[in-house]
Amino acid sequence: MSHVMNTYARLPVAFTHGQGCHVYDEQGRCYLDALAGIAVNTLGHNHPRLVRALAEQAGRLIHTSNLYRIREQEMLADKLAAVAAMDEVFFCNSGCEANEAAIKLARFFGHQKGIDSPAIIVMEKAFHGRTMATLSATGNRKVQAGFEPLVSGFVRVPFDDLPAVEQVAANNPNVVAVLFEPIQGEGGVHIAHNDYMRALRRICDDKDWLFMVDEVQCGVGRTGAWFAHQHAAVKPDVMALAKGLGSGVPIGACLAAGKAAGLFTPGNHGSTFGGNPFACAAALTTLDVIVADGLVDRAAQLGANIRAGFQEQLTGVAGIVDIRGDGLMIGIELDRACGDLVNQALSAGLLINVTADKVIRLLPPLVLSDAEAKQLVETLAPLVKKFLAG
Ligand SMILES: *Cc1c(COP(=O)(O)O)cnc(C)c1O
Repeated sequence: MSHVMNTYARLPVAFTHGQGCHVYDEQGRCYLDALAGIAVNTLGHNHPRLVRALAEQAGRLIHTSNLYRIREQEMLADKLAAVAAMDEVFFCNSGCEANEAAIKLARFFGHQKGIDSPAIIVMEKAFHGRTMATLSATGNRKVQAGFEPLVSGFVRVPFDDLPAVEQVAANNPNVVAVLFEPIQGEGGVHIAHNDYMRALRRICDDKDWLFMVDEVQCGVGRTGAWFAHQHAAVKPDVMALAKGLGSGVPIGACLAAGKAAGLFTPGNHGSTFGGNPFACAAALTTLDVIVADGLVDRAAQLGANIRAGFQEQLTGVAGIVDIRGDGLMIGIELDRACGDLVNQALSAGLLINVTADKVIRLLPPLVLSDAEAKQLVETLAPLVKKFLAG
């Protein structure tokens, strides 16, 4: 056994290299990557523009410190602020850190309003990360069990349920913010309705709460919009990003706008690595390629085609509960636990994931071709049918 701590139930395969939407294992076997490292490899593998940009940046400057100005970070903040219509950006290294920054912002906002014990509304089935604050915000007992005492100051409500939020609004004067995923990822690809998000925005305006979206998984073009909340034409006060932002180079970001902007001043928050030149070069190139290659619209189109393909092959098959998603964030819910499908797909040369026990989750790179999208449906649909029949 290796000395790697036993925190993941790993599949018995290791990859040596990748090209586009394919990866190759140590035996030279080729796999279609329909998971992208869990929504991370936006540009697939070995993307020539990313490889060149990273090689050039590594040859110039990898890291300095946030004690100095970082031009790449300033450029990235400008670009992100423009596509997200937000005012300012704090850079970190992961999704949980981006949410930590959001949680700290909300508490700071509350204290400035004279609320000594600020609370944040969070959702059932939410996933926000594995740090103490973010696992406390997460709506999954498995993530929390054994790590009590949890961080206090979270009020949980069912997802996509407006009356539940209205009830908290009427009864809890300590609430300062709502934090939710416009599309829940780990929870099983659950999509918040657009009218729910708009109503939530109105409550946040009425009650002077921060509207905070965790777009760590659904953001950066994946759902056929730059950010999933944009489908509802609402504007958040705070947004957490990570996963797909750097196409595999670790980077997270917490964006703030309006009443959430300008709260932090030097000394309130920080990160040694956050927003270093190398990570920012990865994110700058990711955003540039998304624009240059029209990958946001591609995600919308490809996702619609893939869902239509599965609907054609699987609708009416006993055991299929739902086929849903937005863009290239796709869930196929079965009526039973289906973790073994991950192994069966692996044997068939396809990387997929199962989350919330019963939901097949697909998060391919945004550079997927039409032929690869077709191959994905044609490989997976028969496996699902066989699994349900067996
Ligand atoms: C993955 C994920 C996180 C945690 O990100 P890490 O980089 O693993 O810390 C937080 N929120 C959502 C919605 C995620 O999907």
